[in-house]
Amino acid sequence: QCAAVCPTGALVVKNDKSKVWEALDDKSAKVSVQIAPAVRVAIGKEFGLTGGDNAIGRIVAALRRMGFDEIYDTSTGADLTVLEESGEFIKRLEAGDTDMPLFTSCCPAWVNYCEKNYPELLPNVSTCRSPMQMFASVIKEHGRTSSRRPVHVAVMPCTAKKFEAARDEFKIEDIPNVDYVITTQELIQMIKESGIVFTDLEPEAVDMPFGTMTGAGLIFGVTGGVTEAVLRRLSSDKSNTSLMSIAYQGARGMEGVKETTVMYGDRELKVAIVSGLKNTSDLIERIKAGEHYDFVEVMACPGGCVSGAGQPFASSEEKATRGKGLYSADRLTNIKRSEENPLMMSLYNGILKGRVHELLHVHYAAGEEEE
Ligand code: SF4
Repeated sequence: QCAAVCPTGALVVKNDKSKVWEALDDKSAKVSVQIAPAVRVAIGKEFGLTGGDNAIGRIVAALRRMGFDEIYDTSTGADLTVLEESGEFIKRLEAGDTDMPLFTSCCPAWVNYCEKNYPELLPNVSTCRSPMQMFASVIKEHGRTSSRRPVHVAVMPCTAKKFEAARDEFKIEDIPNVDYVITTQELIQMIKESGIVFTDLEPEAVDMPFGTMTGAGLIFGVTGGVTEAVLRRLSSDKSNTSLMSIAYQGARGMEGVKETTVMYGDRELKVAIVSGLKNTSDLIERIKAGEHYDFVEVMACPGGCVSGAGQPFASSEEKATRGKGLYSADRLTNIKRSEENPLMMSLYNGILKGRVHELLHVHYAAGEEEE
């Protein structure tokens, strides 16, 4: 086993490749895997493809050859996050909650930073689990119906996700919902160790029953993506023109701080999108000094997950190209709003029935209990 240093957590992190290989060799284990949005646009260059190309089909084909039993796309988990986070936001707005903003909670490095530096803000951090953890709850529940032991692996753009997976909040009877997290770089090493010629692979689709996702979930991998996905959900106008206008509302672009205002009914909402922890602390100081925001998206990595520390090295320009790759993948999806993902309805009527809070939400220390 080798180790790497997590720049966000400043901690030594384990490389779990060998444990994943062991699970794949274990006939009594049923091994599922989910792939985060940002991974698909960062992996190809290593194998000679053009940077920013969407390589999800080849990643799926490679994982299948490596022996994974079920392969899913974290964008599906992001659709759950959009629905839950929008619901939480609307509830706060309708309750006339003056204790705004609502901070997003998808980035574990940000949650960790908030816990350490601004614990008083934890009640303002969304109770939503990250897409990885929401989806892992669903996949693990589904896996319990199998006669084989469910093992779940997540391919993620950062090492912070390893620490998130190991948190007690995401364990059931001491077993984590995500058993192993491997980074994009570790996946590249595993593909090479398998002798798979990545560029020779014919692209394949992810599996059912959790194989439908939307463009809204896909864009989570770049700064502004969560906000844009939530705005698509909040907008009462479901036309293509409205989608276009949301895209030009100021959420896109790799700038570290973006601000926009949107109308929700007759209320004007102030939204901030920050990436990079220095930008985040600057914004928090402004909020503490009295500046009002209703919704704040925070990603610890400048530019969002496309720039994660577990991704292959890239210049700023290449990171921006990865972001464009996600927007282009979004354009190619036929469903662009999370609430239109047909899988969501069956999840809420099935696995999640009566268990939404238990499986999709979390209360971090010092966070307030809410129903
Ligand atoms: Fe991980 Fe960076 Fe994405 Fe946060 S922004 S989830 S640290 S890759």
